[in-house]
Amino acid sequence: MLSPVKKDRKITHLPKYFCPNAALHTKDSFHPQVKAVCEAQKTGTVNYNIAKVIVVGDVAVGKTCLISRFRKGVFDKNYKATIGVDFEMERFEVLGVPFSLQLWDTAGQERFKCIASTYYRGAQAIIVVFDLSSESSLAHARQWLEDAMKENDPSSVLLFLVGTKKDLSSPEHLHQIEQEAIKLSEEIKAEYWAVSAKSGDGVKDFFFRVASLTFEASVLSELEKSGSRHGDIIRLTDNTEANHTPMKEKSKCC
Ligand code: GDP
Ligand code: MG
Repeated sequence: MLSPVKKDRKITHLPKYFCPNAALHTKDSFHPQVKAVCEAQKTGTVNYNIAKVIVVGDVAVGKTCLISRFRKGVFDKNYKATIGVDFEMERFEVLGVPFSLQLWDTAGQERFKCIASTYYRGAQAIIVVFDLSSESSLAHARQWLEDAMKENDPSSVLLFLVGTKKDLSSPEHLHQIEQEAIKLSEEIKAEYWAVSAKSGDGVKDFFFRVASLTFEASVLSELEKSGSRHGDIIRLTDNTEANHTPMKEKSKCC
C-alpha cells in the first residue's frame, strides 16, 4: 500500500511564476473547473494520477543535482538515479488530489547526444536545463527542445527553461544571461526559472509550479476529452484556450 503523501508535498494554492515576462500563465489561482473537479474527487469520482516529466540539457549543467536537491532536500554531488530505473517518482497532493510526477533524468546518455526516443515519448512537461554560468549551455537549449519535441505533441506539452547554478553568477552576469534566457522562453513559449541546487534557492518553488501547472493541464485535457465523449460532463468554456495559451504580460521584473 502507498504511504501517505508527505506534508510538504501538499499543494493547496497555485504557486507563483518566477517571472511574469516568461510565465506559462500569470493567473493567481487554479482554473475554476479544475477546482470543481478536485472537490468532486473528494467523493471519489475522478482520478488524475501521473505525469511524465523529462529533463534535458547539456552534460554537467546540473540536471541530476537539481532533481536530487528537490527529492532529498540536500545538495548531493554523488547522487545516482536508482540503477535500472529511468525515472524517479515524486508524489504530491494537489487540491486534495493525489498526483505524481515521473521525473526522467538521463543516465549520462546526453554526453553522446543519442537519447532514446522512449525517454522523450509521451511527456506532459519538458524541463530544459542550462547552466547560468555557461552561455554555450543556453545556446544549446533550443536544440535539446527540438529533439525532445520530435516525440511529442507540441499542443499538449508544457515547457520550462531552467537556469541552474545561480550561486555561481555575479548579479551583473546573472542579469545579462537572464535577458537572453527570457527572450528564448518567450520564443519557445516556456516558463523561465533560475535556481541553485547548491543553496536550494528556487528549487522547491520550481517543482511545485511544474506539478501544479502539469496537474491543471492534465485535468483540463481530461475534461475536454470526456466532455466531447459523453457531452454530459462539464464542457470547457471558450476561455479555456486563453487560459492555456502562454500569457506574455510585460513587467519590470527579472
Ligand atoms: P548533469 O550532468 O546535468 O546531471 O549535471 P550534475 O547534476 O551531475 O552536475 C554537474 C556538476 O555541477 C557537479 O559537479 C555538481 O556538483 C555541479 N552543480 C550542480 N548544480 C550546482 C549548483 O546549483 N551550484 C553549483 N555551484 N554547482 C552545481
Ligand atoms: Mg546527470
